[in-house]
Amino acid sequence: MMAQPTASHFIAGAYAEDTAGDAIESVNPATGEVIARLHAATPAIIDQAVAAAKAAQPAWAAMKGVERGRILLRTAQVLRERNAELSRLETLDTGKAIQETLVADAASAADALEYFGGLAGAITGEHIDLGGDFVYTRREPLGVCAGIGAWNYPIQIAAWKSAPALACGNAFLFKPSELTPLTALKLAEAFAEAGLPAGLFNVVQGYGAVGAALATHPGIAKVSLTGSVPTGAKVLAGAAQDIKAVTMELGGKSPILVFDDADLESAIGGAMLGNFYSTGQICSNGTRVFVQRGLHDRFLDRLKARTEAIRLGDPLDPDTHLGPMVSMAQRDKVLGYIEAGKREGARLVTGGGVTELQGFENGAWIQPTVFADVTDDMTIAREEIFGPVMSVLAFDDEEEAVARANATPFGLAAGVFTADLARAHRVIARLEAGTTWINAYNLTPVEAPFGGVKQSGIGRENGHAAIEHYTHLKSVYVATGPVDSPY
Ligand code: NDP
Repeated sequence: MMAQPTASHFIAGAYAEDTAGDAIESVNPATGEVIARLHAATPAIIDQAVAAAKAAQPAWAAMKGVERGRILLRTAQVLRERNAELSRLETLDTGKAIQETLVADAASAADALEYFGGLAGAITGEHIDLGGDFVYTRREPLGVCAGIGAWNYPIQIAAWKSAPALACGNAFLFKPSELTPLTALKLAEAFAEAGLPAGLFNVVQGYGAVGAALATHPGIAKVSLTGSVPTGAKVLAGAAQDIKAVTMELGGKSPILVFDDADLESAIGGAMLGNFYSTGQICSNGTRVFVQRGLHDRFLDRLKARTEAIRLGDPLDPDTHLGPMVSMAQRDKVLGYIEAGKREGARLVTGGGVTELQGFENGAWIQPTVFADVTDDMTIAREEIFGPVMSVLAFDDEEEAVARANATPFGLAAGVFTADLARAHRVIARLEAGTTWINAYNLTPVEAPFGGVKQSGIGRENGHAAIEHYTHLKSVYVATGPVDSPY
């Protein structure tokens, strides 16, 4: 099933190609079939894209916010009309089940375009009275902003970054992960169809080297990365050369705390969503599930039963719950963590291996896996696995749970399940994380700021907060009398 795009890149409102770039093969991870062949951007393509963005940006910034917003809203409409087709393409490229892509990918991209399209006319500065003289502030765009994406939510990441950037009057350049290059091009088509002037949303394909070239390109004012902590450190170092603005959405090892009084089925549902959705490939996953001892055994029994009822299968079948992992390499990495869990003494409750599926023998399948009796020092409790592997850890009291939950260099997300709301707020306030939930997990509406603390990130996506990361504040002092000078 081919899904070959017209060309590899999208620059200045049209597809562009340079076959001198390294070959990229996009593989359907359910079957192992190559579905598209592309080329990484050469330096000439990158320069062309930056130049197109630079040329288009001043006129865009000079438009009224509501006019910019109108185009974003139209783009959202195009995505919604094509949701079925885009979801199918995302499923082929990522392996994620169509049940998920129909609601969480292009639909989430459309949410971001609607939200920031609506906000575009409401981006304002403030007036500061000085008793005669006064200061006003202007929220000005940064210029050309670049986004570098991970492979788990390709079109969503492209839109979560470009929608606020464009709403604020910037031009945008996006590099998808080379594993999932296809839907960012469809977003570019949707923007063009909705009337976005040429050059304001460009896509360049490539491996890490292209990302690195964007992070250090002198024509780019800001870089926003969704990726792992090691890549984040490299992009930050590149951006530091000319003091670029950055947003870093990085990895995590987030805790979910389940207290004895929690609603058992909701807590299990939250933990399963927070470990298995997208075949476990979600940055904010709650992969350390701390369960208070009074509930622990019942929690594990029901968790095992519910996990074993998860249906793996053809990702395009609407009844399938879980597709394969994004690639064989990622699957093998996750299998290595599962082996480490067994070797280091964790108790395998369910899963723990690959799945054979008729007709999909070359797919990157892996079973949703639960380990119990996990201790804080085990590799599976310390490192981000980025696959469907849940670690359950027992705890006795609140103080202990909070201390253990915080004992990680990551700080992306956290969740608490309890019927005691005073405790819920008290515990959430003490957890070192940027994105948290009480009696829920992994819900990320566009209205809510999203991002991490500690090594999990810098800056926020979504919500009003994103506006601050795609503008700078200019303060303007206005004198209303003569200049009082001693000279
Ligand atoms: P990587 O960090 O490997 O890659 C992320 C992106 O950066 C890719 O486009 C990659 O290109 C590019 N890249 C790689 N090396 C460099 C470099 N030196 N300079 C600039 N760019 C570079 O992450 P994955 O794609 O494997 O995604 C998984 C990771 O992303 C996990 O750690 C996960 O937690 C995190 N993530 C964070 C989210 C958040 O919002 N906080 C959301 C989703 C995922 P290429 O792929 O071509 O190598």
